[in-house]
Amino acid sequence: MDRYAVVGNPVAHSRSPEIHAAFARQTAQALTYERLLAPTGRFVPTIEAFFASGGAGLNVTLPFKEEAFAWVDERDEFAASAGAVNTIVKVGARFRGCNTDGLGLVRDLERRHGLVLAGACILVLGAGGAARGVLGPLLGRAPARIELMNRNAGRVATLLERFEDPRLAPADEASRAYDIVINATSAGTQGEPIPFDARLARGAFAYDMAYGVGAQAFSEWAARGGARRTVDGLGMLVEQAALAFALWRGVAPETDPVLAQLRAAQ
Ligand code: NDP
Repeated sequence: MDRYAVVGNPVAHSRSPEIHAAFARQTAQALTYERLLAPTGRFVPTIEAFFASGGAGLNVTLPFKEEAFAWVDERDEFAASAGAVNTIVKVGARFRGCNTDGLGLVRDLERRHGLVLAGACILVLGAGGAARGVLGPLLGRAPARIELMNRNAGRVATLLERFEDPRLAPADEASRAYDIVINATSAGTQGEPIPFDARLARGAFAYDMAYGVGAQAFSEWAARGGARRTVDGLGMLVEQAALAFALWRGVAPETDPVLAQLRAAQ
């Protein structure tokens, strides 16, 4: 059986094994998928041992996505724009680094929640790895503009320089007219409140990349600000996993039943 894993630190909380086991059952693919804990400073030896012992592919989670980007032999366009890899595909003797996070978000927004990104005004809260990973795919859907807000403004400036796109700008506190507000901060997952003016969410579709208990802070913030609807990032998690599964196995699983299964187990 082909062996896959998600590598991270910590990794015990990851729901990826549950998701990929469900995809494998649904598509009748014979594979195993495990959690792989890489000790700090031991990412490369850990994944090289995994592949040397016959591993077929890896998902990469915090804090190793940039190290994975540096390690692979080649990168897809989404990994290149994110500067991070969340999926490693073995292609003959070479390793290809892909990033399915941003497309996973776009699919969740468009297909599951019926949003039209073309022409939309989008606010992204946060300027860390998750924000960087989704900007390329979001820009690819022709929004009117994407504004960025972060506690540390220097990281917004770095992102603007990296993407050099006229539709990308620092958030203007005065504008407060967004179709979609996306939370890409880790405030909620750290049990902290969202520190920005809640009125930024007024009338918007509010999307939290966090899920589970980590999604509470943002949903409270969005409700306070008058968002028209708030959803969490579990759909994005399942969509990015489905894209990784398709890269490895050449078959695209159905995501709705797997998302329903995860919600039922929450
Ligand atoms: P990073 O550590 O790279 O970045 C964290 C970001 O959160 C920074 O912008 C940081 O701001 C901000 N932040 C942290 N604490 C606070 C706070 N108390 N108040 C305001 N801002 C804060 O993390 P990632 O970008 O990788 O992850 C962000 C979130 O996205 C996590 O919750 C993660 O679980 C989620 N995620 C979900 C995915 C999914 O599939 N649903 C996929 C990937 C990520 P500053 O720069 O000022 O420190």
